[in-house]
Amino acid sequence: MSRVYNFSAGPAVLPEEVLTEAAAEMLDYKGTGMSVMEMSHRSKAYQTIIEEAEADLRELMHIPDNYKVLFLQGGAHQQFAMVPMNLMKNKVADYIITGQWAKKAWKEAQLYGKANAIASSEDATFSYIPDCSDLPISEDADYVYICENNTIYGTKFHTLPNTKGKLLVADVSSCFLSEPVDVSKYGIIYGGVQKNIGPAGVVIVIIREDLITEDTLPGTPTMLKYKTHADAGSLYNTPPAYGIYICGKVFKWLKNKGGLEVMKAYNEKKAKVLYDFLDESKLFKGTVRKEDRSLMNVPFVTGDKDLDAKFVKEAEAAGFVNLKGHRSVGGMRASIYNAMPIEGVEKLVAFMKDFEEKNG
Ligand SMILES: *Cc1c(COP(=O)(O)O)cnc(C)c1O
Repeated sequence: MSRVYNFSAGPAVLPEEVLTEAAAEMLDYKGTGMSVMEMSHRSKAYQTIIEEAEADLRELMHIPDNYKVLFLQGGAHQQFAMVPMNLMKNKVADYIITGQWAKKAWKEAQLYGKANAIASSEDATFSYIPDCSDLPISEDADYVYICENNTIYGTKFHTLPNTKGKLLVADVSSCFLSEPVDVSKYGIIYGGVQKNIGPAGVVIVIIREDLITEDTLPGTPTMLKYKTHADAGSLYNTPPAYGIYICGKVFKWLKNKGGLEVMKAYNEKKAKVLYDFLDESKLFKGTVRKEDRSLMNVPFVTGDKDLDAKFVKEAEAAGFVNLKGHRSVGGMRASIYNAMPIEGVEKLVAFMKDFEEKNG
């Protein structure tokens, strides 16, 4: 067996310990004589799995009692619609456009009401986070929406926007559990798990209880009402059962590591190795304004498309895979999620130094 250093933006690297454990339990989960994949989601064994997953997530994030945790399907994309369908009572919402995912969410919301783009960084290829200290928040806005970590462009909100008392909704797909969060500052925090937590197919929604109502937009399907899933403990219909089981293992892995404070320190140390090199390199350059840099996604370029392609190809041959930048920006991107060991980044930087010497 040989594992590569996988810098994919998502689906992405998972902790090796988790994969090993899952492999050992594949044929016989804890004496049940079956895999978790083969198990009824109404069984006692599965009930324990999903309850423990929720309890561990609550502990990791210090989720207050007045928030529900939902394990749903449909990807982050489904939340682009579920958020307005459930929250747009006045049919007005404000969106901060910091990249493709925020933009897609904004476009989707336009199907349901007046979705205003109140700030954007598109003028500079989303390479920075706009000043959000005094935005023209709409008086009747049902919520203010952000994509907190911009997976494609490598920016992160290090300060939450001043929503002037309005509800904040955040897509945290690519920074979920990378650092501590004050959940009480948000109405909804949601994210697809395939970036930093588990296998594709699960979306976690953390939602303040008072936002879960029957009062959704007319025609909202039963499956797209938060209330449906909250009332049923995420077991209204068959949930993405195996995916939730793996997420649960990752939560335990994070708890064993010492929780999100420890993870943050580790992620900062890890990202610094790469950013420090980018800042001193004569060949490679980071593309993001320094103060807005993400700890999770690090885009960089040489400034020469052919050299970028050569780098990606040679890196892959050396065991550093999925470094090609998103098709909308080009260049390279190293996604260095929780499960990427610091050795992976150190070795990547050594490889980059060597490449620079030969090609600089
Ligand atoms: C990957 C990603 C998405 C899209 O997720 P899907 O699960 O494919 O719908 C949305 N938002 C962010 C921030 C992402 O990183």
